[in-house]
Amino acid sequence: MDCLFCKMAAGEIPVNKVYEDDTVLAFHDIDPQAPVHFLVIPKTHIGSPAEINAENSAVVAHIFEVIAQIAQEMNLENGYRVVTNCGKDGGQSVPHLHFHVLAKRSLAWPPG
Ligand code: 5GP
Repeated sequence: MDCLFCKMAAGEIPVNKVYEDDTVLAFHDIDPQAPVHFLVIPKTHIGSPAEINAENSAVVAHIFEVIAQIAQEMNLENGYRVVTNCGKDGGQSVPHLHFHVLAKRSLAWPPG
């Protein structure tokens, strides 16, 4: 499969790594929208949030545990935002499930 984030997860494309374990990879976004902006992805291919199901959802729970751990290590005590975009109207541009983590500035709500 020709998937950018699968290639990053497989180590075929280098990333600015934040965290890695057997099932999850986190890396800095190439086009940061906040002083801290990294992405957390499952290593297995899940196309979007719409493809999360009973068989593959355990990695999603793990991703949120990883985010909490990274946030503690990065001292994001003022808070942060976790965002996942889904499909065309959701603004998803890379078709591999990923969670944006944005921090170190005050973030507006609602998003545009
Ligand atoms: P989406 O628009 O799908 O919610 O988010 C995709 C994110 O992936 C964007 O924030 C974009 O900047 C990031 N991105 C796209 N290509 C690359 C890349 O080659 N390297 C890194 N580190 N981030 C990328």
